[in-house]
Amino acid sequence: MSQPVYNFSSGPAILPPPVVRATQAAIGDLAGSGIGVMEHSHRGPEFMKVAAEAEATCREIADIPDDYAVLFLQGGASSQFFMVPMNFLSPETCADYLVTGTWSEKAIAEAKRYGEVHAASSSKDKNYSYVPDASAIKYSASPRYVHFTSNNTIFGTQYASEPAIPDGAFLVCDASSDIFSRPIDIKKYGIVYAGAQKNLGPSGLTLVIIRRDLLDASVRDVPTMLSYATHASNDSMFNTPPTLGMFVAGEVFKWIRGEGGLSAMAERNEAKAKLLYDYLDASKTFYATAAPGSRSLMNVCFRAHDEGIEKAFLAAADSAGLSGIKGHRSVGGMRASIYNAFPKAGIEALLRQLDRF
Ligand SMILES: *Cc1c(COP(=O)(O)O)cnc(C)c1O
Repeated sequence: MSQPVYNFSSGPAILPPPVVRATQAAIGDLAGSGIGVMEHSHRGPEFMKVAAEAEATCREIADIPDDYAVLFLQGGASSQFFMVPMNFLSPETCADYLVTGTWSEKAIAEAKRYGEVHAASSSKDKNYSYVPDASAIKYSASPRYVHFTSNNTIFGTQYASEPAIPDGAFLVCDASSDIFSRPIDIKKYGIVYAGAQKNLGPSGLTLVIIRRDLLDASVRDVPTMLSYATHASNDSMFNTPPTLGMFVAGEVFKWIRGEGGLSAMAERNEAKAKLLYDYLDASKTFYATAAPGSRSLMNVCFRAHDEGIEKAFLAAADSAGLSGIKGHRSVGGMRASIYNAFPKAGIEALLRQLDRF
């Protein structure tokens, strides 16, 4: 038997094996219809059922109240970087951003096209190795919204909880790399968005959860496809939605439910990450780069004190069955992305390999 391959890729990333099997079957034949899921009309009863179930299961696992719309969009999280300010930021208003890495920087760059932007906190001083705590946040006088990145995929840091925000503002979260990895109190948010390819399904699908009062609060006349109201009032079917991605995400939601829901995910993710961080903290060769208290449970970034060892480790990783463990090109080192679907056995294999150095 060949050795297993553990997929540490940061995204597109590992999916639960039962989801992959259900998808394989549905690609050939969706629910006994004789037609594959990719070949069904999005307006036919078979796919409408897939879409309705995906939304219902998403609402169930994350306890999403009725006054929030759940949208299945395209364009990636990167399109949300501009869609949020395009809809909600006018030139006379200010949006506050918590700057914790590359993705926050990209979000800010887009917002600047539409209105005032204030960096309410930043961890750039220490190369984004931590998330600033509440005392470091200095909001502007009356921000329209506050945007933060709950998990910083590239630097391996994560907020333990949502930042408190000023009255009158709403909270916007880029949760691309930790959505549904732990319980989430949706009522604290105006908008949560996530590209699917880390924790939810294939790339090409973007999940947006938005409080319904915001649907009528757009500050400008935006193109039809870029208006949240368009998608909300058409159940994400104003145009052809990403049908295969919605099917897969629906299966991922069912898998999460079957495994015990978001609290079970959180418990498992904590245990998996702890194995790796405990090892790194005790190691004389390797060390975690994120500050304690800010460490991500999803992306564990680490380095070797000796560059030669780092190179040797990376050179040997693939043949040891550890795939995709090289750090992002902008930071170097190693990054173990250990999303919901990543098995504990893969962490154990990584520890065995680390031990060789
Ligand atoms: C991957 C990622 C993005 C970019 O997502 P796309 O879907 O490729 O646009 C944005 N934010 C975070 C936090 C990410 O991890």
